[in-house]
Amino acid sequence: MKDYYKILGVSENATIDEIKQAYKKLAMKYHPDRNPGDKQAEEKFKEINEAYSVLSDPEKRKQYDQLRKFGAKFEGGGFPGGFNFEDIFSNFRTGFGEGFNFTVGDSFIEDLLNQFFDRGEFFRKGKRGAVKGDDINITVEIPFSTAVNGGEIYVDVPRKEVCSVCGGTGAKPGARVSTCPVCKGTGTISDVKGMFAFSRPCPNCYGRGKIISEICYSCGGTGQILTTRKIKIKIPAGADTGTTLRIKGEGEPGINGGANGDLYVHIKVQDDKFFKRKGNDIYVEIPINIAQAILGSKIRIRTIHGNKVELTIPPGTQNGTTFRLKGLGVRSNGGVGDMYVTVRVEIPEKINEKQRKLIEEFAKEGNLKY
Ligand SMILES: [Zn+2]
Ligand SMILES: [Zn+2]
Repeated sequence: MKDYYKILGVSENATIDEIKQAYKKLAMKYHPDRNPGDKQAEEKFKEINEAYSVLSDPEKRKQYDQLRKFGAKFEGGGFPGGFNFEDIFSNFRTGFGEGFNFTVGDSFIEDLLNQFFDRGEFFRKGKRGAVKGDDINITVEIPFSTAVNGGEIYVDVPRKEVCSVCGGTGAKPGARVSTCPVCKGTGTISDVKGMFAFSRPCPNCYGRGKIISEICYSCGGTGQILTTRKIKIKIPAGADTGTTLRIKGEGEPGINGGANGDLYVHIKVQDDKFFKRKGNDIYVEIPINIAQAILGSKIRIRTIHGNKVELTIPPGTQNGTTFRLKGLGVRSNGGVGDMYVTVRVEIPEKINEKQRKLIEEFAKEGNLKY
């Protein structure tokens, strides 16, 4: 799209007087009489006149400004994920602002639009091109051990599928099929909005261009049915909350031969009663009695990998001491974590008379006040 403000060398907020002044100066400089035989100057002169004819007309300038705004939006953002006619409509509306109407056949606007984008290409894409199916996003909760060790889970994914009874035609097998009178077989109808002709799927024939004497009982004539597919998903060892798995081609089916969308599985890992996890490291707390703490002991501890390992508690171990078991954490692509075992020394709440005597003796022996 040509920048008329730049051509005249004025700001977007320029007053009509400023525009006139700029035009006069440039028109004099590039006038063909002053530059005989200079093709470049001639082109420049034409451009200046074109810019002036738009910017000096308040109505045209307003339309031009709105198109510029919209143009930036269109080029910057585009329409992600294929073409949805409703989206395009609302995009146009937002782009142009409220109360903005084009006049049918306004060649000025038409020219400007053609500078934005190849409209032929734009409408062709919208109408007939292959469109990739939408992606599907699901979140699944998986057990702690599946996340740690990897495994397989099955998830139910609701998605549209081509109706198997009619093969997507929407017609009951053996039904009579004729050309849709509304869209004349094209499958699309045009809404004229000012000078725009927006195509959208024909509601009379669901965009198929054909009218069916009896619709398919299975899909109600839509050619698609909503099904739930059970999909097996491989969970890699070390998966964690926030891990996203992409299953290619398991999204919504493509349209007009387009590829299927993808399935994105967002993982949420269930908590475990015993194991706590931070990245690849595993944290556990285990109780030991005072005899184990004082005299030392060997205890067996369950690991996330299902086996048990022996941990040596040295004599005189304090409450809250943490032992590190190297390499016994999560094994993932990102490496191998460790296991941290924190001991809690349990003090007996009740003791019998004999125990009491022994503890008293123990205290005396060690000069412990009580
Ligand atoms: Zn069907
Ligand atoms: Zn139709």
